Amino acid sequence: MKKLLQQACLEHPYLCDGAMGTQLMLAGLEQGNCGEEWNVTHPERVLAIQRRYTQAGADCIITNTFGGSRIMLNRHSNGGRAAELNKAGVAIARQSFEGRDGYVLGDIGPFGGLLAPFGEFTEADVQTAFEEQAAALVEAGADAIIVETQTSLEELLIGMNAAKTAGACCIIGSMAYDVTLDGSNFRTMMGIEPERAAEFMEENGAHIVALNCGTGMDMERALQAVERYKSVSSLPVMAQPNAGKPKLVNMKVVYDETPEQMVKGLMPLLNAGANIVGSCCGSTPEHTRAFRKVMDEFLESKGFEAVGAKREN
Ligand SMILES: [Zn+2]
Repeated sequence: MKKLLQQACLEHPYLCDGAMGTQLMLAGLEQGNCGEEWNVTHPERVLAIQRRYTQAGADCIITNTFGGSRIMLNRHSNGGRAAELNKAGVAIARQSFEGRDGYVLGDIGPFGGLLAPFGEFTEADVQTAFEEQAAALVEAGADAIIVETQTSLEELLIGMNAAKTAGACCIIGSMAYDVTLDGSNFRTMMGIEPERAAEFMEENGAHIVALNCGTGMDMERALQAVERYKSVSSLPVMAQPNAGKPKLVNMKVVYDETPEQMVKGLMPLLNAGANIVGSCCGSTPEHTRAFRKVMDEFLESKGFEAVGAKREN
């Protein structure tokens, strides 16, 4: 039987995939449309994207279910299809490995609103939605649940508890940090610093502590976050930084760090003990391919076998 991800990644680092949203847009998804619906209406397009990531050498694929909670899906009148779309997402991610061993991480993104008293959603609303999503992801065979791009500990906890209730054997909590205006620090939008987040996640049953996305969180900042996580927690650490810092081009936010630029920060991350590394906004299968090469050098230097990538076609 395959090892649990939280055990496997302690032996040597694993490579996770890159961005999904921008890849869906490139494949024809229009801004504001429901990307999760494509798991059923255009599964071949989602599969093609994820296959590019596995062929580039990704060991872990995150399902196309970021906005797959009933609350998010309701915006597209797809709330009633939550279970269907999440299960399809797991099946596609699994298929993308083409029979090779790999880890499918069932993705739970933010529910997209604010909790009461600041917003209109009660904890019970969010709990119901996350439990439904987590159950579908686990039932369909996800190897882990990643509760990601989180900024508040309250919402993170609801997501992690939902994963627990669903029987997930690996739960990953992943926070999105923003670099402060003066550049001296980073914390989430809700003011949470990495040490606090890691301690909270460990106390509440996470198996892996992670960070992803955020504002200004490039490879260098990810390294700092990994170090700060490691200073307070003994859990494996996962990092998925963006492809550089966001720039405003034609009123659109773009991330334009090339694979060559971004990959320079990978060896320091691995040397700092990062257990799983992937990439977030602006990254592509080419970034994953560049990461694979460096990660393979790292693996070989430690006496492990290189994983390699398939030739581009
Ligand atoms: Zn991102």
